[in-house]
Amino acid sequence: MLLEIMGHKEQIEKLKKIVKTDKVANAYIFEGMSGIGKCTVAKEFAKALLCLSEGSRPCNEYIACKTFEDSNNFILLAPEGNVIKVDSIRALKEELMLKPITSDRKVAIINDAECMNEQAQNALLKILEEPPKYVTIILITSNKEKLLYTIKSRCISFQFQPLKEEELRAYFEEPIEKELLEYARGSIGAIVNAKENHATEAIAKWVQAFRQESLIELMRDVNEVREEKYVKDHLQDFLEYLLYLYYKDMKEKKQDTTGAIAIVEETRNHILRNANVDIALDRMVINLWKWRRECKRLLV
Ligand SMILES: [Zn+2]
Repeated sequence: MLLEIMGHKEQIEKLKKIVKTDKVANAYIFEGMSGIGKCTVAKEFAKALLCLSEGSRPCNEYIACKTFEDSNNFILLAPEGNVIKVDSIRALKEELMLKPITSDRKVAIINDAECMNEQAQNALLKILEEPPKYVTIILITSNKEKLLYTIKSRCISFQFQPLKEEELRAYFEEPIEKELLEYARGSIGAIVNAKENHATEAIAKWVQAFRQESLIELMRDVNEVREEKYVKDHLQDFLEYLLYLYYKDMKEKKQDTTGAIAIVEETRNHILRNANVDIALDRMVINLWKWRRECKRLLV
């Protein structure tokens, strides 16, 4: 089972044991950063739970396994836009109330579960309070903090870690650029997405820009990169990456980068709170440059 999945060995062992001993809970939370394969693992777990084979599950042989995603024993719910609304959870409830026919279970995966608004979470809570015993719900989230405590307390949690560099390298056949690996920080999904959108160059350029000595060159390079659609669409990821680089400098080069980290974090928060992106970025670039000039002055 689950052989083709990269990493997550410990979690997979535990899930195998659940399948084998048939001690299945009504609700699980799979938590960890996005793009590391939580949903892939959850689907494989669902398939194993729905499989009717007497031998090891999933058998991947009989119809229940081959068509499990299309069967009405399996439901995958995901946000529409950026929310999961109460209506979706109510519809889910109705479906779950109908007993399974071709399996002895029903499994629902709620992807990006943190996108459930409060009403939706309360509706889900109602299901979790009195679930039919054949039901298993798997909540997948990169931000467990956004889930109600009352939901979390009814679920068994699995924490998924970012993949290791060698696991990422092993997953892809072709060599992966160092910058792309750093940018992805353990997420296969982020690498696939960046490659599909030909963003590798933009990522490398983003790093290079912040290494520029003069303010003019720094601004020129940053302006060039930030005009690209991929960068605009993933600006928070690019800022996260910048933070990573400053933390790395602190750790590896023993540089005091706390000033730079504060500047980038402030920018990130401003943008999250819907500040004007262009103004926020301009200010960040100038402040980072000033910070660096100040560092040099202290060294002399
Ligand atoms: Zn099967």
